[in-house]
Amino acid sequence: MPTRTLLNWFETPPSSPPASSSTALTEKPAPAAAAPKDRGLLRVGIPRVLNMWSTHQFWIGFLSALGIDPRRIEFSSDTSEEQGRSHAMGRGTVDCCYPVKCMSGHYGELLARSKRKIDILFVPMIYTLPSFLGTHVTASLSCPRVMAGPENIKAGFLKERDAFAEAGVRYVAPFVSLADPPVLPKQLHAGFKDAMPGLTLEETRRAVDAGFRALEAWDRRLRARSRELLEQCARAQRPCILVLARPYHMDPGIGHEIETDLQARGYPVLWAQHLPTDDDLLHWMFDADIAAGHIRSPLDIHDVWPSSYSANTNEILWGAKFAARMPWIACVVRLASYECGMDQPTYSPVQAIVERSGTLFFSFQDLDATKPAGSVKIRVETIAHYLGTRAPDIIAKKLAVNPSACPLIEPP
Ligand code: SF4
Repeated sequence: MPTRTLLNWFETPPSSPPASSSTALTEKPAPAAAAPKDRGLLRVGIPRVLNMWSTHQFWIGFLSALGIDPRRIEFSSDTSEEQGRSHAMGRGTVDCCYPVKCMSGHYGELLARSKRKIDILFVPMIYTLPSFLGTHVTASLSCPRVMAGPENIKAGFLKERDAFAEAGVRYVAPFVSLADPPVLPKQLHAGFKDAMPGLTLEETRRAVDAGFRALEAWDRRLRARSRELLEQCARAQRPCILVLARPYHMDPGIGHEIETDLQARGYPVLWAQHLPTDDDLLHWMFDADIAAGHIRSPLDIHDVWPSSYSANTNEILWGAKFAARMPWIACVVRLASYECGMDQPTYSPVQAIVERSGTLFFSFQDLDATKPAGSVKIRVETIAHYLGTRAPDIIAKKLAVNPSACPLIEPP
């Protein structure tokens, strides 16, 4: 049964404006909030964390349509140990997985900026995500730690004094259902109306449409690029690698650039989130499963993952199925972070799906703050060795399973 979201759960804005929250939490009153600026002059800081890695184009399109100058949208830098040391000391709140813990460093970095000082720290509490798997899955929820992350990390900046009020920054963290466009304008209007006086619901609705247009255009570009890359591999009969991970493993401080080390060995790298989903290709890959009654459509994953509630998890499972059927994906690299409770149940099914097709499978689990440089180097060499010696056989074996003409080589 679909999970319902009741708007009245969240009708109180989750974060108070700087002046009022400080009164309750500090002995001496914090500076009064400055008069609202013209929207074109506002500078909005956005932590480059979690599902911001897959939704940033939506937010840029949305904020730009509201009149924020895109040059005044400031993302924090990539996660790094230095960032955590400089900006997150003493800000920890709960013991959690590494990608959530990292958020404190991003908050601290944005609040500490003296040049290009921000007026608003914007950290959406993302409840559901847009997903190309759409109605083929039960739901597209964020991980609960991702959703609650903004409130959890905020607490670390209110423990002794209100760090937001002291920096003169308004904290805006609306609860958002990105997979549910009709309710989104209401959620975002409630979140932004105090920070942007005069903002109307109708204006927010138009900005949401602009955000989705920007996100869809970016998504189309990346999928087309992935298809181009697969076509090049197919024509040259050369292997490529697929990364199965969460979007924020693209952050060099979270994923430790393992895929970049492999790319430097000459192997093209694809990410599951941006695989091509063109009808001709998907039907070539999945028609046999549909005919056999295993699935109802190429995007159906109920055969391997019946509890398809989590957007990122669903896409990882679908990516594994794609890899198993795509001849030129000769190797899958799985990345997962330290203390990730969401990934643990997926380890075995993902590995089984990939390996049953003869595709090479390598997993880097429990990634934390420190890059295990030595072991990564050895494993990258191992992967390169196996790809170098076994890729032609893997490609031939996978091609033999589906002898009909592949649209990557022979467009219809
Ligand atoms: S999916 Fe895993 S790593 Fe990501 S926020 Fe959730 S628990 Fe943490």
